[in-house]
Amino acid sequence: MSKIYILSEKCTGCGLCAKSCPFSAITMTARPERKAKLAVVDELKCNFCGACLDACKKYQAIVIEKDDIGHRTLDIGQYKNVWVYAEQRHGEISPVVYELLNKGRELSDKLSVKLCAVLMGDKISDKSKDLISHGADKVYVYDDEILKEFQDDPYSGLLAQLIEEEKPEIILMGATNIGRSFAARVAAKIHAGLTADCTGLDIEPGTRNLMQTRPAFGGNIMATILTKNHRPQMATVRHKVFKKAEKRVRQPADREVEVIKKTFDKNKIKNRTKYLKFVADLSQKVNLAEADIIVSGGRGLGKPEGFELIETFAKAIGGAVGASRATVDAGWIPYSHQVGQTGRTVAPKLYIACGISGQIQHLVGMQSSDMIVAINKDPECPMMKLATYAIEGDLYKVIPEIIKELKK
Ligand SMILES: Cc1cc2nc3c(=O)[nH]c(=O)nc-3n(C[C@H](O)[C@H](O)[C@H](O)COP(=O)(O)OP(=O)(O)OC[C@H]3O[C@@H](n4cnc5c(N)ncnc54)[C@H](O)[C@@H]3O)c2cc1C
Ligand code: SF4
Ligand code: SF4
Repeated sequence: MSKIYILSEKCTGCGLCAKSCPFSAITMTARPERKAKLAVVDELKCNFCGACLDACKKYQAIVIEKDDIGHRTLDIGQYKNVWVYAEQRHGEISPVVYELLNKGRELSDKLSVKLCAVLMGDKISDKSKDLISHGADKVYVYDDEILKEFQDDPYSGLLAQLIEEEKPEIILMGATNIGRSFAARVAAKIHAGLTADCTGLDIEPGTRNLMQTRPAFGGNIMATILTKNHRPQMATVRHKVFKKAEKRVRQPADREVEVIKKTFDKNKIKNRTKYLKFVADLSQKVNLAEADIIVSGGRGLGKPEGFELIETFAKAIGGAVGASRATVDAGWIPYSHQVGQTGRTVAPKLYIACGISGQIQHLVGMQSSDMIVAINKDPECPMMKLATYAIEGDLYKVIPEIIKELKK
């Protein structure tokens, strides 16, 4: 077990560590023999993040002894190649897969390794060509009728086994309903970590570590997570966070591609669930994720009726209606319209933010949009800074003017 100590003779009682601890695990207590207080750590609250070590750099009064069994037992040098799990539903590859192939290509080029895709399903082998034309060098295919519909047990059993055999260094999966459930099960089977809902992925210069960036502490900070001592490094990413890979008509001459058909013993497949039928959720009327134009309203609308203006605007330019969480929480518009960390992630060609300040939790859901237009009274707010075009003014004056122009 990891341990954390405060060296009382070195501690000056400055309190910087207590301020830096994101888990409120450090308190300052009086010590009778001295005027200065002493830092005390509650080990039950501490997750050994190391933030207090930085805060106490000057006095070196904090010691963390980390339990690093994994470091001693795992030869991470054996692991290579970047994998993308090619999720399919009813025989169609999920759109997020093409986005992961794009990012996966970039990562594998930086690491000088192959980009591989793993495809599972029934009568699915043909799709491997599509994955190759979108950047994969190698595709592992499991094609069998027992894999027709996604089920956690057989899928995670097969993928975990393939990972043990082939030892990839990075595995990317879509943060879809399937991906969220599947990735966690695979990670648990192979004793790997998993960074869910990443909004940025890169390779750390000088090491081969995957830099996995995601919102943390309720979205108040963007944390970059490293899996230094374990492999594979597993991450999930939501649809529309990255751009889609371009389809290549012709393969580069120097690129060798390979499709590996995998067989398996069906008798060894364990499955604790039975697939009955697929029932589509028809309650989601707004398909924000696929819209090319989104007009979103924020608290700047001032009242629920403000969304009537947003709707008229959206209709006039053929867009869908989005919203900030502040308006959803206020009951002005249903949750299905919410854009952001706890809503939809979108990347339309045009995103128009009306009366939205642009807090990080909103930005992570729309910052990959091709063009952003902000209409806001406050020229200094984050959304106006991020916008391609920032229109300073009262939305109740600006939007009717734009609609009038559009009607001409
Ligand atoms: C864990 C967590 C998850 C979250 N998830 C999300 C999420 O998914 N999506 C999300 O949106 N938020 C999310 N939030 C909330 C987020 O932090 C902000 O509170 C929220 O985005 C603010 O919404 P807003 O920009 O509409 O409101 P405000 O921040 O209040 O901004 C209103 C803006 O309107 C402008 N304005 C006012 N009147 C006018 C006018 N007449 N004309 C033009 N401009 C005007 C103001 O200048 C201001 O910039 C989350 C928060 C947490 C803690
Ligand atoms: S930062 Fe270091 S010196 Fe300051 S209170 Fe914390 S442990 Fe003591
Ligand atoms: S290691 Fe992290 S969680 Fe633990 S006391 Fe230090 S700052 Fe707090």
